[in-house]
Amino acid sequence: METYLKESAKKINIDLNDKMIEQFMTYKKLLKEWNEKINLTAIVEDKEIIIKHFIDSLTIEKYIPKGAKVIDVGTGAGFPGLPLKIVREDIEVVLLDSLNKRINFLNEIIEKCKLKNVKTVHGRAEDIAHNPEYREKFDISTARAVANISTLSELCTPFLKVGGTFICMKADAEKEMQEAKRALEILGMKQDEIERIKLSEIDADRTIILYKKEKNTPNKYPRKVGTPTKEPLK
Ligand code: SAM
Repeated sequence: METYLKESAKKINIDLNDKMIEQFMTYKKLLKEWNEKINLTAIVEDKEIIIKHFIDSLTIEKYIPKGAKVIDVGTGAGFPGLPLKIVREDIEVVLLDSLNKRINFLNEIIEKCKLKNVKTVHGRAEDIAHNPEYREKFDISTARAVANISTLSELCTPFLKVGGTFICMKADAEKEMQEAKRALEILGMKQDEIERIKLSEIDADRTIILYKKEKNTPNKYPRKVGTPTKEPLK
């Protein structure tokens, strides 16, 4: 599996050293162990974990500037935040999730993989984004498989400094991108780059959309817990 991981990373131009490979192997082993006790992922086969979780997370690595402060909103079992942290010692990562059992799992990975400059936060994005310690403090906010783009933009963009980037990871995004146009405008965001990629091993399409923050987020966003999901901005 080590060679498979190394070669798969190479295909997206990421060179993994021995230490990183060992960390990914520890992560995979613990993910499978903990998954028997708590629900972390439906993906349990080794190669699938490598491609659908590790490599998929790393597809956004190239968009993260040196030394960036990154928040992963609704990180679950750590995707994409933890694989990014493993390959990038220079960045600071906050992993946010509302389920405490998942936070306990993440803390164990951080400890066993001896990762530095990464911390977990237990809470809802709607609340944490109003905490001055986290509001408009990040260069990058990202999320995978948490909500549609309208909802996600309300949950993710308040964490960004002006000039920061929201990296949205999606499968097929066209319809959601159209529907989220107004939400992103209200939140002071401008669409920047779009990359469409294929994860070759699984023949899956992915879209990475980058939105740049041009203005501060109005104070009232995000609205109270549940509202961004129930009534997405339009
Ligand atoms: N990002 C991970 C991935 O791609 O594998 C996890 C995806 S999982 C489907 C969604 C996660 O988002 C869950 O762990 C859930 O607890 C978390 N979540 C959903 N809404 C949230 C919110 N408003 N604030 C914080 N976490 C949230």
